[in-house]
Amino acid sequence: MTDREQLAHGYSPVFRALDTLSIVAFAVLSAVLARAVGGAWWLHLCFGLIGPPAADVLTGSVHWAADTWGTVHWRVVGPMFIRTFREHHVDQLAITRHDFVETNGANAMVALPMMVGAALWGQPVVCAAVLWLCLWAMATNQFHKWAHSGDNVPAAVRFLHKHSILLTPRHHALHHQAPYLSNYCITGGWMNPLLDGIGFFRRMERIITALTGAVPRAEDHRLTEG
Ligand SMILES: [Zn+2]
Ligand SMILES: [Zn+2]
Repeated sequence: MTDREQLAHGYSPVFRALDTLSIVAFAVLSAVLARAVGGAWWLHLCFGLIGPPAADVLTGSVHWAADTWGTVHWRVVGPMFIRTFREHHVDQLAITRHDFVETNGANAMVALPMMVGAALWGQPVVCAAVLWLCLWAMATNQFHKWAHSGDNVPAAVRFLHKHSILLTPRHHALHHQAPYLSNYCITGGWMNPLLDGIGFFRRMERIITALTGAVPRAEDHRLTEG
């Protein structure tokens, strides 16, 4: 199968079923973690405020990794995680055609191990930190989809875009401009000026290339050429 065929046909019914189960498990584990935090409202306040920038850095790093390394042909990881990122650079409106499960399933799945670990531990501070980080990280692909959806978004989202509170179409468009090497953070985009300002991701690429010999964006070159 060619790279482009893999992009078009990579989302099988099995992966859809796994995504659906992940979203259900995410909802159940969120309730378990909230119960473990109990009435400690100050923990919700504290981590509710730390969660957005932390999720921005976390999801920006995952976005950078999926844009930069690996291939859609890798087993499981390729079709379930890397595919959507590669598809997004070839056809940035494809995400607007994904339904709720395809948009949000992968983020829910990635969050599950951390949520299970925190639930088993049961420590309130840890549960609050993981709960809020995962809630914001889970919402990221939905925020990203809205940044590509023009006026076709709920009125409340239009308001948040207008006041630059959520990832705005204008800010995120910077990621889709050649040479596609900046503004990876897509929860709110709040941390992009800092991370791009210090050249964080280019530094990481130089370290990884020095250690492994891997070439950043090797598959991107093939997709855009062919
Ligand atoms: Zn990207
Ligand atoms: Zn995008």
